[in-house]
Amino acid sequence: MSIYPDLRLYIGGEWRKTRDDLTVVNPATEEEIGRLPHARISDLDDALEAAETGFRVWCRTAPRERADIILKASALLRERQEEIARAITAEHGKPLAQARLEVIRGCEFFEWDAGEAVRSYGRVIPSAPGVRYLVHHQPIGVTLGLAPWNFPMSQPARKVAGALAAGCSIILKAAEETPAGALHIARAFHDAGLPKGVLNLVFGTPAEISGHLIRQEAVRLVAFTGSTTVGRHLSGLAAQNDTRALMELGGHAPVIVCEDTDVERAAISGAVRKYRNAGQVCTSPTRFFVHESIFAPFLETFSGRAAATKVGNGMAQDTEMGPLANERRVPALMDLIEDACAKGAELCVGGSPIEGPGYFLKPTVLANVPDDARVMQEEPFGPLAVINPVGSLDEAIARANSVPYGLAAYGFTNRADYIDRMTDEVEAGNLSINTLEASLPETPFGGVKSSGTGREGGTEGLENYMIVKTVSHSMS
Ligand code: NAD
Repeated sequence: MSIYPDLRLYIGGEWRKTRDDLTVVNPATEEEIGRLPHARISDLDDALEAAETGFRVWCRTAPRERADIILKASALLRERQEEIARAITAEHGKPLAQARLEVIRGCEFFEWDAGEAVRSYGRVIPSAPGVRYLVHHQPIGVTLGLAPWNFPMSQPARKVAGALAAGCSIILKAAEETPAGALHIARAFHDAGLPKGVLNLVFGTPAEISGHLIRQEAVRLVAFTGSTTVGRHLSGLAAQNDTRALMELGGHAPVIVCEDTDVERAAISGAVRKYRNAGQVCTSPTRFFVHESIFAPFLETFSGRAAATKVGNGMAQDTEMGPLANERRVPALMDLIEDACAKGAELCVGGSPIEGPGYFLKPTVLANVPDDARVMQEEPFGPLAVINPVGSLDEAIARANSVPYGLAAYGFTNRADYIDRMTDEVEAGNLSINTLEASLPETPFGGVKSSGTGREGGTEGLENYMIVKTVSHSMS
């Protein structure tokens, strides 16, 4: 049985094939595993028309009914977990166990937002007798979701869950390199009885799709996850039309390891988390600032765990880290490593590609990296950790905040005063202490500074997809 689905566009409730000149490659073997239809401008216009029709139906559908359809689709995705996970591993490379967890995480996003659909309360503002001020939350309209390749199922799930729970319709452009997760989402909603046009799925040339659709009056929100550079460009396009932009952009997460920490626990959990998804996670812990009194044992334990990481094809049961998701990431990472070493960084582990087919790079640890190395400012988005000593919490916080990003940040300490200081002073949308979990369906997730605007998840998540309408009325 082929593990990879037949790839189609999904427009107005119909599966559509067009010229299939985009190829999907397995990054572990470099073999072609699928051909992807390429949306023409006419397909995009059809998707827009379908989404406008879908919106008119869906915004008048009772929140409870919307939630029921979302939950039904999520149940189907759970039933299909194994098939979806295998397709994700084939197109993205991540270990199968991580792909299985990703499918479940995507379902949890749907289930959380389905609950939020029936809890998007308005309010009544106190007023004089005979006067009422009511605040309503209403769906914003047609939305455009642009999802990246690092989590082929759970990233599109975030966008679709928010839009559909709020009562919006969505045109989803998922990543051309990893289309299967989004395709399975569309299939599950189709089978769950979602009205035609509420969810549409397209693939093609990213700049052409975003450029064409963002300038359409009917599109009221663009929700993007990806790099800061692309996000800024898309925010600019959206601003020209006064279209709302929800931007989940890059990160460069600092980890502050204080002197009172259990070194072994912090180092092992840090290394395991760093190499999850081959480090291709916007919340991946990257810049470790370790108190000088525990620096040596921390570096030794972390490096030992990094070197022991089993790298290979994600389909193999014992693989802990797969290849990078696409060919261009290998030279991008190598450039950062070579630049840091040339400026005096110490290469402790890895630092080179692995011979043979596939886009494999060894888990890498750099220590004592000077501040002028590019990796201290640029998000590596790969299996590269930087471990530097610091003399105090003041220094650690200053260095943590010294990048334009502010997405996830981590701390390891049991001291209440240190936790308070990090809470008050670390510039990040999500700070986790003694854990490297940065985001759950029920917690709001998003960045500050150049890491983006808006939040996904939590009770804040649906706010992006809704407008606030204040209705004042007098009884006389
Ligand atoms: P990239 O900047 O070329 O693309 C990033 C993403 O944006 C991709 O999914 C791409 O398809 C999409 N994209 C690019 N141009 C677009 C456009 N004009 N309109 C709509 N979508 C567009 O980089 P890349 O090589 O694909 O990925 C590497 C970088 O992207 C990393 O350094 C990382 O910072 C970032 N990234 C971040 C996340 C995240 O979760 N925040 C996910 C994937 C990639």
